[in-house]
Amino acid sequence: MKTLVFETPNKPIVIDQKMPEINDTEVLIRTRTVGICHSDYELLAGRYIIPISYPVTPGHEWCGEIVEVGKSVRNYKVGDRVVGECVVRTPERLHHFGFSMNGADREYFNVNPDWLHKLPDGVDDNRGALIEPFTCGFYAVLRSGGKNASETVVVIRGDFSDEDRVEGVAVDVDCLVDRVLAGCTEFNSAGGVDGEVPAGADGGVVDVSLDRGDREGPADLDRGGRSIGGFQR
Ligand SMILES: [Zn+2]
Repeated sequence: MKTLVFETPNKPIVIDQKMPEINDTEVLIRTRTVGICHSDYELLAGRYIIPISYPVTPGHEWCGEIVEVGKSVRNYKVGDRVVGECVVRTPERLHHFGFSMNGADREYFNVNPDWLHKLPDGVDDNRGALIEPFTCGFYAVLRSGGKNASETVVVIRGDFSDEDRVEGVAVDVDCLVDRVLAGCTEFNSAGGVDGEVPAGADGGVVDVSLDRGDREGPADLDRGGRSIGGFQR
């Protein structure tokens, strides 16, 4: 099977590997979709937020299908579509899936089913792969105390796809959910997606800024909003 490997920093290669085998407590996943996160660029460049041993296979935003189930696994069956958590515990230590341990950028991989979540039929493979990045932002919204999601305005900033571009957008949380579920991954600096200005963006009220924690908050926060940094960690 084909596997993407970052052999050393700045050296991505695709290799042929033998199929993984599962033990009684694991399931075998066939990868369907995998996102590319800015953290993957950092992993490739050799500057991820925790020390990494290379070679490593990236891929922490993914959707897959179970193709084999270990004898003692309950709750999952062949054919289930699943997504996985990105911070997982093994008997040895806490891991970052796709960073400190091999991730989903390979055709098949074996995992502990405790790390998985079943996908409902209404969520397609592409949207499924976006659930992991969405939950990072959603967790930050919860941490900010933004209980009234329909009224809270957020600003998302950060290097989602390009070092040279600061991307920001002001949307209400319901709007954000809709956009993520619609498969949107990029938010432009004009406050919209693909040139469209979202509801709430032109009101100028910013309650919460969600960012990577390594930038100044937007000027709008001078009006009394809060900055919640480092949500990706
Ligand atoms: Zn990520």
